[in-house]
Amino acid sequence: VEIAGDADSKRRRTDYVGNVATIASHYNQRAEVGVEQREFSPIIGLKKFNNWVKSVLIGKFTPRRRGGGARVLDIGCGKGGDLNKWKQARISLYVGMDIAETSINQARERWQTMRGNRYDAFFAAHDCYSNPIHEALPPQYTTRDLYDSVSMQFCMHYAFETPAKARMMLDNVTRYLKTGGLFIGTIPNSALLLSRLDELPEGEVSFGNSCYQITFAERHHQGIYGREYRFYLEDAVEDVPEYIVDWENFVGLAREYGLELVYQKTFNDILQEEQSSRDFGPLLGKMGVINEDGESAMDTDQWEAANLYMAFAFEKRQ
Ligand code: SAM
Repeated sequence: VEIAGDADSKRRRTDYVGNVATIASHYNQRAEVGVEQREFSPIIGLKKFNNWVKSVLIGKFTPRRRGGGARVLDIGCGKGGDLNKWKQARISLYVGMDIAETSINQARERWQTMRGNRYDAFFAAHDCYSNPIHEALPPQYTTRDLYDSVSMQFCMHYAFETPAKARMMLDNVTRYLKTGGLFIGTIPNSALLLSRLDELPEGEVSFGNSCYQITFAERHHQGIYGREYRFYLEDAVEDVPEYIVDWENFVGLAREYGLELVYQKTFNDILQEEQSSRDFGPLLGKMGVINEDGESAMDTDQWEAANLYMAFAFEKRQ
């Protein structure tokens, strides 16, 4: 079991360019609240639903490895909110990386205090969209074919500021992922966001409800990358700049890195498909997404916010 990484990641200087500084400082400043406090979040229903979706993805797409559990690279891991989900998936190694150093420290602490059988883990603060990940990891975590699975939850869209960042991100995702390994993630459904923008009266750039607000930088945009909007989500994200992920472009780019799309679903479709499944249906109650009477913990505004997202899985081909 290894807990290294702290000293290394502190010594390394991270060059924050443009919006990267805004994104990092936002996530660094969000204080970690305990499980009890979290229950009082006004969007607790939405948070639980998002966690359930991630459990479904992890459960469906974590390969079992002969002689041990899967080895996982979690890029943009944040405070380690998925550590227990990976435990359920019986993995053997978890490498968590995030640009926000405070979050990485919290994730490491969370792993250190995890109860029961722990997998090995390593945590590093790093800008994974501007720099190769081997710069922040000891050599044993950057060997060929090491990872069975790479995960990017609610974070990949920040890379679509420029083609260089999107490529660096995909290079980092695929370089140590083995053939047949999986790349899973959750991102905003950009086509939906753009159709909502199109429906607005001319000159308006903003839509939302009581729990979220999306404000585009411009009504019309030239080019595929750098299409910026600000996202506000009550009690979670305060006006952070994000970027549209043009889906066709992303799938094409991913193919250049040997990734073939095997799964793409909106959160709504995932709920419809999995709510009665043997594996994931019972988790809805256990994770508090629905109560004993089968009622959702989300109100309609939270449900609308949940459906701004979609999930994907790619498989690495030769
Ligand atoms: N994956 C976690 C989860 O599902 O709870 C955290 C998601 S949070 C909405 C987005 C994360 O992306 C933040 O922790 C942020 O610091 C991270 N992030 C943004 N830009 C990044 C970059 N260039 N390199 C690494 N992580 C980045």
